[in-house]
Amino acid sequence: TERTLVLIKPDGVKRNISGAILARVEAKGYTLAELKKVNATREVLEEHYAEHEGKPFYEPLVEFMLSGPIVAAIFEGERVIEGFRSLAGTTDPTTAAPGTIRGDFGRDWGTAVQQNLVHGSDSPESAEREIGIWFGK
Ligand code: ATP
Repeated sequence: TERTLVLIKPDGVKRNISGAILARVEAKGYTLAELKKVNATREVLEEHYAEHEGKPFYEPLVEFMLSGPIVAAIFEGERVIEGFRSLAGTTDPTTAAPGTIRGDFGRDWGTAVQQNLVHGSDSPESAEREIGIWFGK
């Protein structure tokens, strides 16, 4: 079965909604395979966000991800990559559909970064790459 990396970003952990977010993913039928709370390092984030290097939001994004603990999880299930992204909603929480994690809980804090609570891998290749970064091979 497929697996994906889910991160609950520092905004979600600070707001004490990690459990509520994980519960929604489980409720949809996906299985929690690994779970941990971590303080990311700049090195891990530079690897994780390599594709965004040079973009205007890159440095603020890395700083935001260093601003507090992150919950990292591996979820498994049929089409979990697509399913989680659908559950998360679109990037901007202001316009993410109600019923999605970002649409229901998200806030736009008016900063340089979309503080949008969660990250989910976007392809099987990204999932394996990102799981390696956060959990080791
Ligand atoms: P999605 O692919 O659903 O948009 P994502 O988390 O994969 O979500 P990316 O495009 O990979 O989004 O961007 C990574 C993160 O960078 C976003 O989740 C968001 O926090 C931030 N981000 C992306 N685009 C912008 C932007 N234009 N302005 C500010 N922050 C952004």
